[in-house]
Amino acid sequence: MTQIYTYGNYLKDKFGCKVYKVGINISGFTCPNIDGTVAKGGCTFCENDSFSASTNEVQELKGFHLNLDSKENPYLQKQLEQLEIQFNAISKRQKDEYGAQKFIVYFQSFTNTYAPFETLKALYEKALSFDNVVGLSIGTRSDSITEETLDYLGELNKTKEIWIEFGIQSIYDKTLKKINRGHDSENVKDWILKSKKAGLNVCGHLIFGLPDESKEMMIETAVEAYKWGIDSVKYHPLYVVKRTALANDFINGKFKPISEEEYLDVLVQTINIKPKNISVQRITAGIDDESLLAPQWCKDKNTQIKNINKALKPSGLKY
Ligand code: SF4
Repeated sequence: MTQIYTYGNYLKDKFGCKVYKVGINISGFTCPNIDGTVAKGGCTFCENDSFSASTNEVQELKGFHLNLDSKENPYLQKQLEQLEIQFNAISKRQKDEYGAQKFIVYFQSFTNTYAPFETLKALYEKALSFDNVVGLSIGTRSDSITEETLDYLGELNKTKEIWIEFGIQSIYDKTLKKINRGHDSENVKDWILKSKKAGLNVCGHLIFGLPDESKEMMIETAVEAYKWGIDSVKYHPLYVVKRTALANDFINGKFKPISEEEYLDVLVQTINIKPKNISVQRITAGIDDESLLAPQWCKDKNTQIKNINKALKPSGLKY
């Protein structure tokens, strides 16, 4: 059996030790697909409230949101403190429990380039100043990053490990419209190519099981994303969380979630055609709490991984 090349393998090869991502959630960040700039309500599967209700939320910042045109940020100091508190707590746990030696600070929730440049610069530089931090991973949308930020990250990448994560989801604009994505596929392609040109490492997020997509469409999305030069990939099944627009569609019989068999079939096919150099950062997703509406197979991660390995076996692969 050949082990699939994972992001963990990549980091181990590159840094020679255990490198962990430290997921950070900074208050005051939002998304142009939620704040009305592009659309309101967000992607149909996104439970926006779950972010703002986060236990990490700084109370003072409740209701305060940055965007690309914000002229000032009176809460920058608070955000920098929040970053440090979260980093210290999470990295300590990763060190104590898993023997993590180095870290990549992962700006995870919302759109992490959707703020004035000076705010981004201050947060990124603070993150890189922490002990044993070797780089950053920045989750964002392709319609919410500027050339200035990209150039700056390209410079940082000369001495640090800088990743940018884009939600690709699907290459089909009709699907992107159905999920209220707020940008088209060409926009994602453009910014991935620009990011690569700036020398950055790119991770693409793909979702299988989007409304009305056939297996062929899902596979074609992966084929295209690979061609755009992504360095790493996260595969997700689309699951329905309560209090979302998708939940309404599901309840009204307008959306049928992907079955586990179909997900495994698409996943195995897309992994088999994936260029070897693209590392896999996520092979499935789910949520093990009462907020999951469907499909129920997305509840138990261990069973999912067991079934993925079973499905990969005939290809001589394991995860
Ligand atoms: S881009 Fe991300 S944060 Fe924004 S609405 Fe979509 S899923 Fe939610």
